Amino acid sequence: MTELNIPNISLNDGTAIPQLGFGVFLVDADEAVRVAADALDTGYRHLDTAMVYRNEAETAQAMRESGIAREDIYLTTKLWNGDQSRPLDAFQESLDRLQLDYVDLYLIHWPLPTVGTALGAWEGLIKIAESGRAKSIGVSNFETEHLQQLIDETGVTPAVNQIELHPYHQRGELREYCREHGIAVEAWGPIGQGKTDLFEQAPIVQAAQAHGVTPAQVILRWHTQHDIIVIPKTVSKERMLENASIFGFELNADEMAAIDALERGANNGPDPRTYDNR
Ligand code: NAD
Repeated sequence: MTELNIPNISLNDGTAIPQLGFGVFLVDADEAVRVAADALDTGYRHLDTAMVYRNEAETAQAMRESGIAREDIYLTTKLWNGDQSRPLDAFQESLDRLQLDYVDLYLIHWPLPTVGTALGAWEGLIKIAESGRAKSIGVSNFETEHLQQLIDETGVTPAVNQIELHPYHQRGELREYCREHGIAVEAWGPIGQGKTDLFEQAPIVQAAQAHGVTPAQVILRWHTQHDIIVIPKTVSKERMLENASIFGFELNADEMAAIDALERGANNGPDPRTYDNR
């Protein structure tokens, strides 16, 4: 196995998370054991699933079958929107599907501001963390006002905010708020979900040529040099290795600035301020 040298990022609760993980969104259940096993075999030690991905059981099966010690794998799962009013039961159901007695990180998947149940859900996650069954708790797709409400009402700051983030959608203000509050930022869709022409943009192509790497590697390296956690997804074992082999080169300040300049406020996913799918 290649040495990937994946660094850890310290979280505000004293734990640490591998800066690069592997996401299993849209990996069908019948392929998920093979895909998660390939990711672990490639050297990933951080897996990101969710109740709504319908592959929690398969992801955890691959963990068990890998022979890698439980404490050497970082596992995230998420509370689905329809379960925000029953976080403790929904969490136990996730643990039952996973056949695990703890997860490393449990996230509220969306803020649902038009529904108004996220604060109650966060109070549930605080109890789950106190029980030790989630080592860390955090949120996903939260804007500054959604984060501020949780902090104001409970005094407990999420450890992580997992948000859509890539060079076309850089979330400058939200990242700055998270930095000021000690919230680690994790990028979903870090390479644009394969839906954009990001890979053809000159600053990315030029940096790829200069460093003898691929556009995907340049984009993932750009994230990590901004202290962002990344969880790219692919079902191809070759691309798993490509996406993880990003810690052996360094983008210079000009290359970073040229990629920063690609910002266009263009999200691929839903707007967290209006999304209410349950
Ligand atoms: P991504 O940016 O990781 O893109 C994945 C797609 O990019 C793949 O399907 C493939 O088509 C392509 N790809 C991957 N590696 C490539 C390479 N080296 N070269 C060329 N193309 C490549 O998007 P994603 O899967 O949506 O996001 C990653 C993870 O983030 C998910 O698997 C999931 O765990 C998480 N996620 C979370 C949320 C949320 O609301 N919290 C939403 C979406 C995704």
